[in-house]
Amino acid sequence: MTLKGRLEARQGDITRMAVDAIVNAANTSLLGGGGVDGAIHRAAGPELLAECRTIGGCPTGEARLTKGYRLPARHVIHTVGPVYRGRPEDSRLLAGCYTHSLTLAMDHGLQTLAFPAISCGVYGYPIADACRIAVDSCATFMGSHDTPDRVVFVLFSAAYLDVYTRPLSFRVA
Ligand code: ADP
Repeated sequence: MTLKGRLEARQGDITRMAVDAIVNAANTSLLGGGGVDGAIHRAAGPELLAECRTIGGCPTGEARLTKGYRLPARHVIHTVGPVYRGRPEDSRLLAGCYTHSLTLAMDHGLQTLAFPAISCGVYGYPIADACRIAVDSCATFMGSHDTPDRVVFVLFSAAYLDVYTRPLSFRVA
């Protein structure tokens, strides 16, 4: 299955993305935090936190779906990245965030998805390593599934966007 036109990176604010689902880099409580999590909850309104309370948390490396409320995105997929400690399981858990989010999107027929740089803020994952895991996980999944149709990596900074350019150009011929 072709990846051309289906996988891209851009600079921006993920809370502004009008897609079927944006992915939130949440913590295991799913009860909100700082960084992208705080921005998503602020933009979605208090109904998002109310729905999150009913879920009862999420283990690291897994993902849960809610509605998007006041966001332009219809849904939020909350995933919990690993706190980076340089252990072998860090990469497995981070890859799990991407594949579980993609599987959840597929199971609900969500065609357009936006990911932030999961674990690359306060959780301390080195951006180049995290980027390779993100691109490989999404390219592998989308190479064998036609849903989601389109995935956008939304990076807050131009420097982070730069890191994604080369791995993406290798994968998206
Ligand atoms: P984590 O706890 O998983 O490390 P953070 O929220 O601290 O999550 O950071 C994850 C990434 O999201 C960081 O690169 C941060 O710069 C970025 N980020 C923060 N706010 C936004 C936003 N509104 N849109 C896109 N990316 C964001």
